Order: sequence, then structure tokens, then C-alpha cells
Amino acid sequence: MKVAIFPGSFDPITSGHVDLVKRAIPLFDEIIVAIGINSQKKYLFPLEQRIKWLEEVFAEMPSVRVDAYEGLTAHYSMKVGARYMLRGLRNASDFDYEKTISQLNSIVGEGVETIFLISKPEYSHISSTIVREIIKGHGDASPFLPPQIQIEQH
Ligand code: ADP
Repeated sequence: MKVAIFPGSFDPITSGHVDLVKRAIPLFDEIIVAIGINSQKKYLFPLEQRIKWLEEVFAEMPSVRVDAYEGLTAHYSMKVGARYMLRGLRNASDFDYEKTISQLNSIVGEGVETIFLISKPEYSHISSTIVREIIKGHGDASPFLPPQIQIEQH
């Protein structure tokens, strides 16, 4: 069985993440969208909220499940029996960063393969960081979010 994890913070999940998962569905028997918990990192949205959103967004996709983990992504991947990690590439800086992480993960994760999908042009400008800035600035982030996610503007 081909299992992939799609690790990230998903703070919050964006339309770019959703498009990537949808495009990867035909490639794997199961995709685990997994929230990595880093106790040093400050998040805008609590873990429970981010999990709830992921569950709502992927509810209609039976081969996708949602989870959260602490510790190294490579160790989590071995624990759940996933030989593949799914990651998105939006631009050259994603590539530089992801290349190193992928090479490290392959060693720590004992051969785990990172599979990259190039972002579609209509999603390549979207990042959780930008979405958080819009929300903090009381702007409307809905053009960048899946329809299941409603964030009140204050
Ligand atoms: P992290 O906290 O590791 O930066 P993110 O939640 O921001 O994680 O992103 C997880 C993965 O989703 C990364 O591989 C990232 O490249 C990818 N990704 C994020 N936004 C997009 C997008 N707009 N299009 C395609 N891939 C994306």
C-alpha cells in the first residue's frame, strides 16, 4: 500500500494546500495530512481548530485522513508506515529549502522519498504566512481559503 504524509503547520490550510492534495490523490492509496506540533513555535490558530478545519475540508475524500504528531517528521512517517512525503514547490526559495529537508529526511527516515508537485500558477502566490498577515490586518482572506473555512473579520 502506497502511503504518503503531507506534513505542515496548516496555520491555516489554504486553497494551495487543498489543490496539492487533490492532485496527489491518484498517486497514493492513502494520504495522511499531518500537523507537525513544534512546542517552540507560536501559531495563530490552536491545534484543535486546525485539525477541525482539515477534517472538514477533506471529509469527502475517503483516501485522505488527518493526524497530528510531535517530534521529527521522518520518525512520524516511519511510525505510520508512510514511505512518501508530499511537498509543494511554489518558487526557487521553496526549492532550496525543500531540497535540504528532503535529503535529511531520506537519511533520518531510512529511505523515505519526498514527492514534489509544482504549484499551479493560480496558487503559487498563496502561503499561510500571507493569509495570517491578512487576518491579523483585519482583511478578507477568503479568496485564499477553502470554502469550508470561515474566518470572521473584526
Ligand atoms: P510549513 O509549516 O512546513 O511551512 P505549510 O503548512 O506552510 O508548512 O506548507 C506545507 C506544504 O505545503 C509545503 O510543502 C508547502 O510548499 C506546500 N504549500 C504551501 N502553500 C502552497 C501553495 N500555495 N501551493 C502549493 N503548495 C503549497
